[in-house]
Amino acid sequence: MTVAETLAAHTAEVPDFPKAGVLFKDFNPLFAAPAAFAEVLEDIAGRWRGQVDVVAGVEARGFILGAPLAQRMDIGFVPIRKVGKLPGETVSCEYDLEYGSAVVEVAADAFADAHRVLLVDDVLATGGTAAAACELIERAGGRIAGIEMLLELRFLAGRDKLDGYVVNAIQVD
Ligand code: IMP
Repeated sequence: MTVAETLAAHTAEVPDFPKAGVLFKDFNPLFAAPAAFAEVLEDIAGRWRGQVDVVAGVEARGFILGAPLAQRMDIGFVPIRKVGKLPGETVSCEYDLEYGSAVVEVAADAFADAHRVLLVDDVLATGGTAAAACELIERAGGRIAGIEMLLELRFLAGRDKLDGYVVNAIQVD
């Protein structure tokens, strides 16, 4: 089995969630299957081991992926959180949603000693979240070495918002 096949075999598709017309990709079956989850994490780790100083993950599924990934590479993990969740001094970045806007934050000193950052999340959809996370990381002094997503919803063209970055993801239509 390829990694793409393992991932597909452990992804559920939920129609009309979180709202009508959306086919939601649910990775809970992957997180519940240790061998498959390890295979997916090792695939990512193998591309970046020794080339990044830290993994940053976007709340919330980026935490589920990013923390074990960082452990596997023997480096640290930095959480990128929704507004108001982090103690201490933070850097923030606002970005547009379909309706309204959202703010993500990171600890101001998160990249003081770890500059090469691997950004991780589960799905690249419109790219708004990932673009905001990249801007945030750079404002906080990090440098994006690469971006890893489990899946990219190609029809939403999120990659266009991430021009100039290395983006690895399994593409689905
Ligand atoms: P974007 O900002 O439109 O690219 O949306 C990406 C964010 O929405 C990521 O943080 C994902 O976790 C979440 N997301 C969008 N679509 C899905 C999906 O089908 N399954 C799981 N998460 C999704």
